[in-house]
Amino acid sequence: MVIRKKHVAVLGSTGSIGTQALEVIKAYPENFAVEALTANGNADLLIQQAIEFKPNCVVIADESKYEIVKNALSKHDSSAPLGAGIKVFTGNKAVEQVVQMNSIDIVLAAIVGYAGLASTISAIKAKKSIALANKETLVVAGELITALAKENGVNIYPVDSEHSAIFQCMAGEWENPIEKIYLTASGGPFRGKDKKFLASVKKEHALKHPNWDMGAKITIDSATLMNKGLEVIEAKWLFNLKAEQIEVIVHPQSIIHSIVQFKDGSMKAQMGLPDMKLPIQYALSYPNRLSSSFERFDFANCPNFSFEKPDTETFRCLSLGFEAMRKGGNAACILNAANEVAVNAFLNDKISFLKIAETIENTLAKAPFIAKPSYDDYVHSDKESRMIASGFCK
Ligand code: NDP
Repeated sequence: MVIRKKHVAVLGSTGSIGTQALEVIKAYPENFAVEALTANGNADLLIQQAIEFKPNCVVIADESKYEIVKNALSKHDSSAPLGAGIKVFTGNKAVEQVVQMNSIDIVLAAIVGYAGLASTISAIKAKKSIALANKETLVVAGELITALAKENGVNIYPVDSEHSAIFQCMAGEWENPIEKIYLTASGGPFRGKDKKFLASVKKEHALKHPNWDMGAKITIDSATLMNKGLEVIEAKWLFNLKAEQIEVIVHPQSIIHSIVQFKDGSMKAQMGLPDMKLPIQYALSYPNRLSSSFERFDFANCPNFSFEKPDTETFRCLSLGFEAMRKGGNAACILNAANEVAVNAFLNDKISFLKIAETIENTLAKAPFIAKPSYDDYVHSDKESRMIASGFCK
């Protein structure tokens, strides 16, 4: 089968997802080409990636790093400039602009946090397909994003492993209503621990995830179970589900990535070793599957799968995610902003691990609720919630 080559913009190319996406792209030069790369401040890695992948343009969001990137890509070796013809832009607005380039087919949204929202909206408005890693986009503004995608005829392909699993289980089943989904959770590094134990954990412990190697923010989210809280909201919008159709189940081996239950009671699960390259590749190559040399799961090495209910008393963040989803409006936007502030404070040793959930809960109680938010309301609510949350993190 001949598959048309896709031209990809990788937003957040210097991050955990971004670098793995470039490994995938590198493995299939006949299927993918890089059109644009963006980073926040990691100029060295962005330069290295630009020289290797020769995109049409790069963006370094941090303006103080612009000269470094510009100079490095115009430097000459013996024959030609290292970054011959690669345009260099800077600033957040530039990220929003480059995703609209005609030559781009698909945008991999892998910026972390709320910072990824505006560029994803811009890409949808330009009718680009979206491979979505940035779950915060749907958490903050799921209603607006899904409506915009529908209006522009844009497909959003999930990169998050759990949502990719649901998406893969749905192949050939779109006419069949989902009764329920089970999002699996590893339980993180503190599974089985109580609040007394958690009171004294430091970031060094929280940053050690048992199964996945990820960026710092999502690793802390996995330790608090907020990651699963965010994923519940992400699933609601991606698959048009009600709160009672979404259940979280702890599966410490991280081999079953999620499960769909149909109305006849049949359950379909997607399995594989925990490796983000697989869902990234599926989102980029959909509807095709490309042959890969990723390590295969061997039943002999893992004869027992286990499942347990999450401990939402100890890991309050998961319940807060469900509560924000049920409340609707801007509640999840407030939740996300407070979480970003609290995680940042924890990573900077300003607050304790348990204070993360407390900060989110207090911010949700204090920030004004808006039942039908516009884009401007989300922007304002994000700013306001960050200020409130910062006050709780002193
Ligand atoms: P990382 O922290 O590893 O990378 C984040 C990327 O975003 C970097 O390229 C960073 O640039 C860039 N970035 C950060 N802030 C800004 C900003 N203000 N403006 C522009 N660019 C910015 O994150 P991950 O790769 O772990 O996660 C990315 C997204 O994917 C998150 O939403 C996460 O929840 C989701 N995800 C991640 C998974 C994983 O395995 N890592 C799994 C499933 C989902 P720089 O390097 O220059 O700072």
